[in-house]
Amino acid sequence: MRIIRATKVLTGRSGQVIADGEVLIDGPKIVSVGPRGSAGEAGEAAEVIELPGHTVLPGLIDAHVHLGFDAKVDPVTRRSPESDHHLLLRMAENARKLVSAGVTTARDLGARGFLDLDLRDAIEEGLAVGPHLVAATRPITITGGHCWYMGGEADDEPAIRRVARENLRAGADCLKVMASGGQMTPGAPPSWTSQYGTEQLRVVVEEAAARGKGVAAHAHAHEAIRSSVEAGVTTIEHCTFFTRSGHRYDPELIDVVAASGTYVCPTVHGAFHRIREVHGEAMLEAWLGGVSAMREAGVRQIAGTDAGFAIGGIGNPTDGYVGGLEVFAMAGYRNAEIIELATVLAADACGVGEVAGSLDAGKRADLIAVAGDPLERLSDLRNLVLVLVSGRSVGQAGVDTVTASLG
Ligand SMILES: [Zn+2]
Repeated sequence: MRIIRATKVLTGRSGQVIADGEVLIDGPKIVSVGPRGSAGEAGEAAEVIELPGHTVLPGLIDAHVHLGFDAKVDPVTRRSPESDHHLLLRMAENARKLVSAGVTTARDLGARGFLDLDLRDAIEEGLAVGPHLVAATRPITITGGHCWYMGGEADDEPAIRRVARENLRAGADCLKVMASGGQMTPGAPPSWTSQYGTEQLRVVVEEAAARGKGVAAHAHAHEAIRSSVEAGVTTIEHCTFFTRSGHRYDPELIDVVAASGTYVCPTVHGAFHRIREVHGEAMLEAWLGGVSAMREAGVRQIAGTDAGFAIGGIGNPTDGYVGGLEVFAMAGYRNAEIIELATVLAADACGVGEVAGSLDAGKRADLIAVAGDPLERLSDLRNLVLVLVSGRSVGQAGVDTVTASLG
């Protein structure tokens, strides 16, 4: 048993702060959370870690990563010469960087060769260092469509059902479907067009639901966002309201998304502010305006970085998570809300809300401790002194969390 005491303990839920709090841990699980002394007799027998001047909170959750990519601009042409063996090693290194930045659960939304499942299992076995992974395996996409090269091509409903079932048979934790085109695949439909209609997306939702799993739908285009809501997906990824002539946020459609309760992962990341230098102020303002319009309409947004994929020629490394949270602050979110969308809400959206995302008795001991107070200064989330993944400490000494992957 171990007891961790800190000046502040945040449960993860917005506004829930325990001053001079303590968390009692037994092996991989949390036993109790409360003010100093609340652990009672059990606490007296435990090894004590005193952290004055620090804040303890749930481990952060990245709802959208691609451990198989390396933040460079063109993953497609870089992919071909790389063997699966080499790629798996690189994914392991990316997983290490992610957990070194305080991310204790990550949802990988697209990998080839089911390598994400091997890595997920290796981390759970202690063979590799990383966050708990929620793995989507091969994204379902049309022939030659967005990310077709990951192996999940399917054009009609029987084919979609087949790929969905194969992914689930292999052990996928959720399904990913490319409802619209995207920017990163040469020759694929552009992001402002749909790849699938509502009926086809419904097949994916049905197959996932039959095994108690959720669906993440990649959707930039208006029509794809609407179809995703109609089909009942769990999360909409990007949700940029992209048209041929740029972002055009539609208040009526935002209300449809909000009313449905569908989670939106707007995939904002640490290199996001560089959009200003690369694409200009107007592009940045349009994107931020959308995130803030969704907040005002009551859309449940969650944190996820799309780490691994470059965006608009800007590298997006695996350890830029807190920078992504700072983008939510730029869009008007309060720090307490940001911590909630990075923990409780993201866990729920990723289907792991029962075991992770908040500091509660019985949940996994996934937590971080930082010097300072992230409710006052979000950047204090970078001052990590402790990262526990299911109670296992991930040592920070000597870990270079500044990415080496931007070549
Ligand atoms: Zn992605």
